[in-house]
Amino acid sequence: MLNLVLFGPPGAGKGTQAELLQKKYQMLHLSTGDAIRQNIANGTQLGLLAKKQMEDGALVSDNLVCSIVADYVAQNTQANGVIFDGFPRTTEQAKEFDKIMADKGLSITAMIALDIPDQTIVTRITERAKISGRADDQNPQIVQNRIDTYKQQTAVVANYYQEQNKSFQIDGTGSIEQVFNLLCLEIDKLIK
Ligand code: ADP
Repeated sequence: MLNLVLFGPPGAGKGTQAELLQKKYQMLHLSTGDAIRQNIANGTQLGLLAKKQMEDGALVSDNLVCSIVADYVAQNTQANGVIFDGFPRTTEQAKEFDKIMADKGLSITAMIALDIPDQTIVTRITERAKISGRADDQNPQIVQNRIDTYKQQTAVVANYYQEQNKSFQIDGTGSIEQVFNLLCLEIDKLIK
């Protein structure tokens, strides 16, 4: 089972690439951001607790996000593979993730990071804001908060996977197709 963490700052293209990878490799795709938005839309208890943090561009608490992931993993133990998009976002989540997987006799195969500069992040999110309908894409201050949050709390997660020799990085600045091709090259090496 190929369990892939797709890593990178907001706006790096994780969601777009995950959709393409899902089709090509017959994998499942869990976006914790989408799952949280779904909970907010459905007015669940989790959604109510997560709403303010998400709207501010802060991180939703580790225990809420980990509970989403634990449920998802438990329900999909027979999958061909899963792309985890937007998770883990803190070292605590990464540690808990290892336990969630080990509990089911599974493990994370690799983490692939999409590398893009700050200016590209802002340009892409500004473009996406026109069509995404996402409140956290519309306000430049919230976008900046998300970038700062990434730098302060999330970027360090790469070290966690580096220490396990599971970390790979590709250039995320090209076209959707170029980035997809780079990702496929890495994945093909992993599944050989
Ligand atoms: P993006 O990465 O483009 O900002 P996401 O949909 O992945 O978009 O995430 C949107 C928001 O959802 C984040 O700013 C955060 O509030 C919340 N979120 C998503 N995943 C996590 C996570 N693993 N831990 C904490 N908060 C999360």
